[in-house]
Amino acid sequence: MEKNIPNNNTVKILGLKFDTKMNWIQHLKYLKTDINQKLNIIKMLSHTQWGGDEHTLIRIHRQLIRVKLDYGAILYQSTSHPHLKIIDSALNSSIRLCIGAFKSSPIESIRNIAQEAPPELRRAEKTLLYAASITRNTDNPANKHIVETIQIVNEDKIQLGSILKVNPYSYPPWTFKLEINMELAQNKKENTNPIIYQEHLRKVLDNYQNCNMFFTDASKTEKGAIAVLKTIEFIQIQDKMLTNNLILTDSLSTLRSLENNTNPTDIAKNIQEKTNDLKLRGINITFIWVPGHTNIRGNEMADQAAKEAAQPNNLNIQFLDTVTYDDIKTHIKSKSLIKWQTHWSKQQTKLNEIKNTIFNWRDPDLSRKEKILMNRLRIGHTRLTHQHLMAKEEPTQCTVCGVALTVKHVITECYQYAEDLKTYNIPPNLYEALGPDSKNTSNMLTFLKKSDLYDKI
Ligand SMILES: [Zn+2]
Repeated sequence: MEKNIPNNNTVKILGLKFDTKMNWIQHLKYLKTDINQKLNIIKMLSHTQWGGDEHTLIRIHRQLIRVKLDYGAILYQSTSHPHLKIIDSALNSSIRLCIGAFKSSPIESIRNIAQEAPPELRRAEKTLLYAASITRNTDNPANKHIVETIQIVNEDKIQLGSILKVNPYSYPPWTFKLEINMELAQNKKENTNPIIYQEHLRKVLDNYQNCNMFFTDASKTEKGAIAVLKTIEFIQIQDKMLTNNLILTDSLSTLRSLENNTNPTDIAKNIQEKTNDLKLRGINITFIWVPGHTNIRGNEMADQAAKEAAQPNNLNIQFLDTVTYDDIKTHIKSKSLIKWQTHWSKQQTKLNEIKNTIFNWRDPDLSRKEKILMNRLRIGHTRLTHQHLMAKEEPTQCTVCGVALTVKHVITECYQYAEDLKTYNIPPNLYEALGPDSKNTSNMLTFLKKSDLYDKI
C-alpha cells in the first residue's frame, strides 16, 4: 500500500515548536491559546468582591501563566513578531486581574503593585542566568551559539568568562570518598572550653603524623570554601613536595558540602575533583574541622607543629578574584532590579507620585475588596474617575466643584468630602493618605465606608 508521508512545517522538540522560518510564530500561537485558557482560571478566582487573596492569586499566576512564558524565552525573545505583544498582553491581563486594578490602569503601575518585573527585563535576566550557567562547562556546545544573544541583553557588561568552571565528574563520584574528620564538631561550641578543643585536636592529630598542615580561616571571609579550594590548588602546584596534607578549616558548611556528591556546590565539586586527582597521583588530603575563634592556632598548636617538624603553612592567598555561578546569579538579579527601579523612576504615572520604589508595601490584613480599593486609589484609576474611557464618553466632572474628577481631587480638594476627610484624619496629600502607613490606610478605608464612595471605586 502506498502512503505519502505528510509534509509538516513545524516540529515540537522539548515543548518548543520549531518552524521552517525559525520566526517562532507557531510557538507563539500555541502559547497564546494555552495562556488564554489558563487566563480563564484567573478570571474565575479573581472576583473583586469575594475573589482570592491577592498574594495567593499572584502565586497562581506565576505557576500557571508566567512559567509558560519563561520556558524557552531565551530562544523566542529575539522575535519581533506582533504575537509576542499579544502574549505579553495576556500576561498583563492576568496580573491586572490578580490585583483587581481598573481596566484603564497603566501597565507599569500594575506591575509595580503586583511585584512583577516587565517581561523583557525578565527575559534578559533569564538569558544571562542561562549563559552564566552554561559558561561553567566549557565543553557545552551552546556556549558558541549564545554569544550573540548575550551581547544584546548584557548591557551591564557582566563578565561571564571569569566564572569558576565546573565540568561533569571525570570519575564515578560514588567510588571516591573524601577523608573528612568532623570529630571536634561533636562538642557544642557554646559550652566547650577552648582547652578541651585543643586537647581533642591534639588527639585527632596523633593519627596524622608527618602531615603538612594548612589552616584556612573562614571567619575572615564568607568564602570559606574558596579558601579550601585555593589551598588545594597550592598543594597541586607543589606536586610531590607535599604528599600528606591536612586542611584545617572552621567552615562546617564547606565540609558538609564536600560530602555531597549528588548535587554539590560548584566549589565543592571542584574540591572533590582536585582531591581525587591528587589522590591518584599519591598526594593525600584530609579535611579536619576546627572551631573558629578559639585560639586553636595559638601556642599549643605551634608546639604541636614543631614536634611534628612541620611548620603550619600560612598561605596568604588572594581568592577574591574567584567568581562562582552563585555570585554571578546574585549580581545579575540585583542588576535586573536596579534596571527595573530606573525604569520605574522614569515613569510618569499617578502611582509614581506616591510610590517611588519598586519594592512591596506591606499592608495590614485587608479583605479582597479593601485591598482592591487601596490598589485602585494608589494607581489613580478607578471606576468613579475613569469609567468614561470604557463608555467612550467625555471625562467625568465633579458635580460640586465643576472640575475634572480625579482621585487627587476627591482626597485633597473636593468641597463635597472636605468635612469627612477631616473627621477621619485623612492627611491632606496623596503621598501620606495613600502611603504604606497602616494607620492612614485604615483611616482611608473608614472614610470610604462612611462616605458614598465605597462602592464607586
Ligand atoms: Zn469636587
